[in-house]
Amino acid sequence: MTPLLEQVYAPGDFRRQGHALVDQLADYLEACPTLPANPLVAPEDLLSTFRSLLSNNKTKPEDLYELMLRHSLHLHAPAYMGHQVNPPAPLSALGDLLNGIINGSTAIYEMGSTGAVMERLVMEAFANMLGLSSATGGFMTNGGTLANLTALLAARAAKWPEGDAWQAGNGPFRPCVLVNEQAHYCIDRAVRIMGWGEQGIINVPSDEAYKMKTEELDGLIAEARKKGLTPLAIIGSAGTTSTGSFDDLDSIAEVAERHKLWFHVDGAHGGAQYLDPDRRDLVRGMDRADSVIVDFHKTMMTPGLTTGVFFKNGSDAYRTFHQKAEYLLSFDSGEEDWANMGRRTFECTKNMMSLRVFSLLSVYGPEAFRDYLTSVNGIAAHCAVAVRQTPELELAVLPETNIVCFRYHPKTTGLSLEEVNGLNQMIRAQIIQETDFYIVQTKLRGLVWLRCTFTNPMTSRGHVDKMLQEVKARGEAQVAFRSGMPVF
Ligand SMILES: *Cc1c(COP(=O)(O)O)cnc(C)c1O
Repeated sequence: MTPLLEQVYAPGDFRRQGHALVDQLADYLEACPTLPANPLVAPEDLLSTFRSLLSNNKTKPEDLYELMLRHSLHLHAPAYMGHQVNPPAPLSALGDLLNGIINGSTAIYEMGSTGAVMERLVMEAFANMLGLSSATGGFMTNGGTLANLTALLAARAAKWPEGDAWQAGNGPFRPCVLVNEQAHYCIDRAVRIMGWGEQGIINVPSDEAYKMKTEELDGLIAEARKKGLTPLAIIGSAGTTSTGSFDDLDSIAEVAERHKLWFHVDGAHGGAQYLDPDRRDLVRGMDRADSVIVDFHKTMMTPGLTTGVFFKNGSDAYRTFHQKAEYLLSFDSGEEDWANMGRRTFECTKNMMSLRVFSLLSVYGPEAFRDYLTSVNGIAAHCAVAVRQTPELELAVLPETNIVCFRYHPKTTGLSLEEVNGLNQMIRAQIIQETDFYIVQTKLRGLVWLRCTFTNPMTSRGHVDKMLQEVKARGEAQVAFRSGMPVF
């Protein structure tokens, strides 16, 4: 070992650097309540700042970490109301340090034994907590995108008209799935990755609440068959990405069962809502799904990517990949081999992400997840009430969970549709540049909406009210400016 490598691996240096980092992070978390959520600087400026750290190899770790903390979006700041990713519970994040050192891999038991058993227990616990059958085929994977693709591959294996798509390719078949037009774009990608092309995805229209019009499913299935397509699966969104709208899963289950189609639930955002007693009804019918995916990094306080893939029939999980990998896996019988996960997962080397959940579950208990959801849902409900009480603000749809879409739209000014859209784009830009708040925007049926996802339980009603005041004030100033009136 060279002297340099001795230094690289020195436990003493690590002890010092580690304690310093934990102190730095604890200071950061203590500062977050009053930090602006969005410290964004232009990419070129950030690039040159970081490039300068590479110009000599004398960078101190604490200086690097300081820069990262200063320039990152602050998810733990109560003014963070933007995208769906949650502020991780510090304990869950701490486990990533341990994972980084151990560097276990759960593809084969020998490489990641502790991760494998925790993964099985996490999946069992959550299947139970979410009202799903506790089949042991479930596993964890790197994100909802990969999870949806994995589940659809299982659907393909289970529902393929004849033969084996894994061996023979798609052949003469023109398979397709049916999904809410409002579904996350990763479903569309998964279908195209499987080689089914544009015709492989049938977008089911949504109603005024952006939920799938399930009454159109029978007609669309018949139409697809008439065109020579083979419907394989119906995908329910729990909920959709833009508005967090929940499809009627019970109705979808009924149609899927009647047509013998696979029923998949994309619960990346909202599958966990079963834990909130007041929201449980939103996912009624989820237990009838053949597969369900849930992102822990959106509503269950873990760092990303941490996603669970649940199967009603555990053996379906083993049908996804038929390829042989004898050097890794000692059998090829298709029977359950829960401890060697590489058979079921895309990843070969896969970190022990189960620790992020297992730590919270074993230290704080399942109630922590329930409390988290009821808290963030409560903040969103308050936001919706406040929007409705403000005449100049308009709600896109009554929020079912923690996503709220609204916009500034004074009725008396006679603004055109385009003008209201432009106004709200301007308001969003000003909010993130001029205030502490971080919010995003979305477009629904041609209309621009401001969009908040409340993922931070430390956000208070006061913060929400302040954000809405900032929005309203900017809208008023814009309207006054456009009509040539003095602003103040
Ligand atoms: C976020 C989201 C996804 C994608 O999940 P990632 O973990 O970001 O890959 C898929 N579907 C829905 C409904 C989502 O909200």
